[in-house]
Amino acid sequence: MNVLVINAGSSSLKFQLLDTQTGTVFAKGNCERIGIDGSFIGYTLNGEKGTLEVEMPDHRTAVGHVFDLLKGVDAPIEGIGHRVVQGGWYFPESAVVTDETLGWVREVAPLAPLHNYAEADVIEICRDMFPDLGNVIVPDTAFHYNMPEHAWRYALPRDVVDKYHVRKYGAHGTSHRYIWRTVNEFLGGEAHKVVSCHLGSGASLCAIEDGRCKDTTMGLTPLDGLIMGTRCGTLDPATVFYLYREAGMSIDEIDTMMNKQSGLLAVSGVSSDSRDVIAGMEEGNNDCKVAVEMFTYRVAQLFAEMAASMEGVDTMVYTAGIGENSDYLRAAVAERLGWMGVKIDPELNAVRSDDPRVISTPDSAIKVLVVPTNEELMIALDVEALLG
Ligand code: ADP
Repeated sequence: MNVLVINAGSSSLKFQLLDTQTGTVFAKGNCERIGIDGSFIGYTLNGEKGTLEVEMPDHRTAVGHVFDLLKGVDAPIEGIGHRVVQGGWYFPESAVVTDETLGWVREVAPLAPLHNYAEADVIEICRDMFPDLGNVIVPDTAFHYNMPEHAWRYALPRDVVDKYHVRKYGAHGTSHRYIWRTVNEFLGGEAHKVVSCHLGSGASLCAIEDGRCKDTTMGLTPLDGLIMGTRCGTLDPATVFYLYREAGMSIDEIDTMMNKQSGLLAVSGVSSDSRDVIAGMEEGNNDCKVAVEMFTYRVAQLFAEMAASMEGVDTMVYTAGIGENSDYLRAAVAERLGWMGVKIDPELNAVRSDDPRVISTPDSAIKVLVVPTNEELMIALDVEALLG
């Protein structure tokens, strides 16, 4: 089935048209600066890269341009999958778009206002412009929906929790689900207690036992857990009240600081990109060294936390930009996990490949793998399962 996967943001719209049977990507691209001067679409079509400078005052225009572009591909669109960042308390799995399910995306939007409103608008636009095509909602939170209550619940008063739906929702669920599926297949059913380490600019770990999520490191929002490119990760919640009262910062300023000005960027003082931070460390910059140490310390610490949630772990998987590419950070985390019996083979760790691969030594207590993620394929497979 040829599925168009759409990942809409407030001023961008990423798209990919692929075949679920072969995984072939016919076209992909990103509409940037929607609603802002200087909008353009960067794309790859039939293997050729291009840029289209077009006015995109709104998402409807952007969707129109994407469909026009895709006419240049010999693969008719048979269904559309929409990545939705926050499924809230409604989506234990992906769902076909109806008035009701679309309403849910909007209802839970206050939990992810920068994403859900735009995503809901784009779903509506696609339905409206192409009524013959089926649309599917694929929430990033769905995989975490059935975590045990002791994992998702926060120790807050019940009336607040119930009224405002305050709980752990997690994120990167579509990636973690893809990782489980791939590892299970790759290891022939040998993996049972897996910690999936999605380390990109956003980063989260997920404890997966026989295909079910047992816990994850992101919380009500993606701010929780690991140190990320620009997010601070877990800290004492009282930091917010303290800064509000003592530093005179507004809630919006604290929000922006913790989401956009913290993490590797703040500690290194150099960059949010792990490559720059590692390069800085190698050139003797002590702030970069501390940033790298904090990052690997937290990955190792939360890895053990995820293992505890399953009372064991047999497989560790690295994925996303850092997880797939940074042999340095993988080795540094492994060193911190030596006490758990993790041993990686330096030669295997140095291999560059787009295929799943084992990088641990045969006598490692935990098998360590690198598996490139493919959220678009996972979304497309959901569309096929629901509409195919
Ligand atoms: P997102 O999709 O969340 O924006 P990515 O999964 O693309 O993030 O990951 C971005 C991170 O991956 C950056 O910190 C970048 O430094 C890191 N990264 C990407 N390529 C490499 C590489 N070849 N070596 C080391 N790190 C890399």
